Amino acid sequence: MNQRAPSPTRVADVGSLMADRLLTISGSEAAAAAPLMDPARGGLVLVGKKPAPLAQLTAAYPEVLLMREPTSARTVATPEAPFDLPPDDGLLAAPDLSGILDGQREAGAAAAITPTRYFPSDSGAAMEAAVRVANSLYRRDMLLWIPCEWKWAGEARVARLIAILRRSRHPVALSLADRQDPLAHKGVPAGLRRIAQQVDGLVLWRTDLAGIDAMVHGASAMAVGVLPSQRHLTEAGGAAFAARPDDKTPHVFVRHLLRYVQARKMQERWFASIPAPVCECRICSGRPLDRFTGSPEDRTAAHLHNVAELMTLHGELLASGIARRSWWREQLDDARAAHQALAGRTSTDVPFPPTLNSWAKI
Ligand SMILES: [Zn+2]
Repeated sequence: MNQRAPSPTRVADVGSLMADRLLTISGSEAAAAAPLMDPARGGLVLVGKKPAPLAQLTAAYPEVLLMREPTSARTVATPEAPFDLPPDDGLLAAPDLSGILDGQREAGAAAAITPTRYFPSDSGAAMEAAVRVANSLYRRDMLLWIPCEWKWAGEARVARLIAILRRSRHPVALSLADRQDPLAHKGVPAGLRRIAQQVDGLVLWRTDLAGIDAMVHGASAMAVGVLPSQRHLTEAGGAAFAARPDDKTPHVFVRHLLRYVQARKMQERWFASIPAPVCECRICSGRPLDRFTGSPEDRTAAHLHNVAELMTLHGELLASGIARRSWWREQLDDARAAHQALAGRTSTDVPFPPTLNSWAKI
């Protein structure tokens, strides 16, 4: 046992610690999001170049599950070096994989996550090496992070991915990478669902609504990004694609449509002449959903609204018990009807998003 780690949450088993949780991935908004977290069902994952200090948040919110995502996925994994470990300079012994994980725990992380490098679609040998090396660690407080190209969840490769991940003795945190939305590729929604069904204890990491679909179909937990760029990974060395970089209005989660919509789109296209729906979450308190401008204050408020609404949806998922699938189907059917109703009221075309359509049909 590690004698030095006064961690707020003693991990008997990371699988039971993660079970049924909605984690929130956040960079600069972490301190604002922390008070919203449910100690039993939530948690916060710190990301970014300048994440909020873990120790400071641990001291302020000792009851909240906190973790930090490594920066390792910026480089490509090889079979010889699937993890990002500091080089041994020959003078001081550099920490090995277990030492890195110990460091995360000592800094206040409730569980550790491997500093895994990025797996392009042709790097099966490197991914197998990552599983093999992680399996040599006999500890129960760690997730094996698998940041990989979206093609791994496509029809051609998903069976191999599942076979590799099923060999891991540690629960897997899976992140798909793409410049845009990985779920927009044909076959990926179905592939992700297969992975959730066949890989025990899966945590879908850096996701959005796909995490709900995964948890309905067997995944253990989900980690949802606050910002669009945190809801998927980008390829090592790549940059995320922004539709309109000049438009700073936030993407707002609209519960009855089951989707994120940019505030400007609501203001200009949907609710220019009819009133926008109001939101009763604890951030909005009955105010309209299209009110957010691109100001830093409005952007933060919108992001916190998203966190609060996702938590409500996640709470409904857990409350549905063994009826998860029929509950989810009902949500998707209602969202389809809401899109049609909105199109009728606004006399505009409001297509049902292809990903929601896939989930409703597969
Ligand atoms: Zn709200």
